[in-house]
Amino acid sequence: MSIEWNATGRTIAYCFEEQRTLGVFGTRDEASLATIAHLDSCECCLMYGISFRAELDVDESVNMSNRNAHLVFQAMGLEAFDEDGNGCGSIDADTLLAAAQVALVSSQEENVLPTSVAGGPGTGRATFIDFGVDADYLRGRLAQIADLATEAKRLNRNILWG
Ligand SMILES: [Zn+2]
Repeated sequence: MSIEWNATGRTIAYCFEEQRTLGVFGTRDEASLATIAHLDSCECCLMYGISFRAELDVDESVNMSNRNAHLVFQAMGLEAFDEDGNGCGSIDADTLLAAAQVALVSSQEENVLPTSVAGGPGTGRATFIDFGVDADYLRGRLAQIADLATEAKRLNRNILWG
């Protein structure tokens, strides 16, 4: 989930090999032209291309798998996903902050997903262990979400997910 952002219209050129921003440019065409010399010195970008992406005015998020996001939303009493963990939407920062703060002081035991084991000896399948989600994980994510919502509130933005 991330704070609602707007594209600034500028383009960021990034090199994954050197893990650095090559520059921020007014347009995509300008970015291509200005970074062409980089291809002489970087085999990786020569082969796979320089990464160009839109610059965002706010770039703050909390990243979770769909399954875990579903559990964290459930912990906050918010319906944000279908039973397969798919969904997207937006929520105002005040509502999200309040929901995260209430969830943080609740026990969360009912939202914990226990470790499960599938397959293994005698089943003809490899053992697959799903470590589930414990209350510490939920509290950690809820605290991050509360921080994100606080920042969104300061910026007067909504929170998006999906
Ligand atoms: Zn490169």
